[in-house]
Amino acid sequence: MDVRDLTRLAHRYPVINKFKFKQIALFICLATDFKHDIAAVHPSSCPTEDSPPPLLSIVHAQYLCEATCIPYPFAQTLWDIAKNNVWSMPSAKDQKREIDKLYKTLGWHRGITRTALWPHNTWCNNYSCPRQGELCQLNFKEVVVFTLDGVQRAKVAHLYCPSCCIMYCCNYRIHDQVSTHTYYDHIPKWIEMNEHHYIETKLVEEWTSAMVISATSASACVKQYMNMYAHRGSYYNPDYFTQPHLTKVDTGVRFSPILTTEQVWDAFVILALLRDHHFHSFALSVPNTGLQRVRFNGAMDYRNKWITPSLLQRMYAYLARGWQRWP
Ligand SMILES: [Zn+2]
Repeated sequence: MDVRDLTRLAHRYPVINKFKFKQIALFICLATDFKHDIAAVHPSSCPTEDSPPPLLSIVHAQYLCEATCIPYPFAQTLWDIAKNNVWSMPSAKDQKREIDKLYKTLGWHRGITRTALWPHNTWCNNYSCPRQGELCQLNFKEVVVFTLDGVQRAKVAHLYCPSCCIMYCCNYRIHDQVSTHTYYDHIPKWIEMNEHHYIETKLVEEWTSAMVISATSASACVKQYMNMYAHRGSYYNPDYFTQPHLTKVDTGVRFSPILTTEQVWDAFVILALLRDHHFHSFALSVPNTGLQRVRFNGAMDYRNKWITPSLLQRMYAYLARGWQRWP
């Protein structure tokens, strides 16, 4: 459907002028997603492979009308207008794949990425800051993100408060003369591994479950990720292999697209600390400099010292209750 078709349709079906463009777009988008359902209610004598069925069933019409806030009596008229587009449009999943490809081929070299990692606030949330305005943009950095949709190129934004000199990053804020960084009080969507690598938190949760439930090693998590997820998108080598061999050229990223065992362990530790601090309503603070594997040692030691006596105390209480019941 192009603009001329829309104008022609508006003349032919004046009812279309009653609705907003976003209602009609949503109607088409939703119907595209379950067009197989729409076809399935028609008898086999009605051809639906290459052409849309003439009628919309009551249940589908009701769903589409409620979802788009279009009165039910107009459902069949809208279906008459939009059915050819519904049948020719790719599904949402195929559209996403196409859009990902466009970002990679046309956007990445221009610095346009589908994934952009921003701090969650645009104003300084330091209580002792006069907060003279919105945060300023400090810089953008190109990064590689490991996601359930594969290895992606992304950009991360750093913001800066000119009043109190605190820097706000995607995961945390940097303060005390750039000596400390404190994580925000929510579990972030992305976990920072180093300056140019981030991992999707859902992925780290999956590794944590695998480690805890089935004692999966970090190296096995790496192999599983590189085999199953890193190649998603089908434009990489689809052959089965057991060792990761993605190159920067394969993925179109400037930094290493290979996940490492150290990154899996670091992500496991950071997520465990974040969950624990979040549960106890504490903010996680670590030194802003030094090696990644060393920076979290202090926080780990502190939690271990607290957790061990607490666990022993609960175990003794449990045993005491058991012994009382034993005779
Ligand atoms: Zn400030």
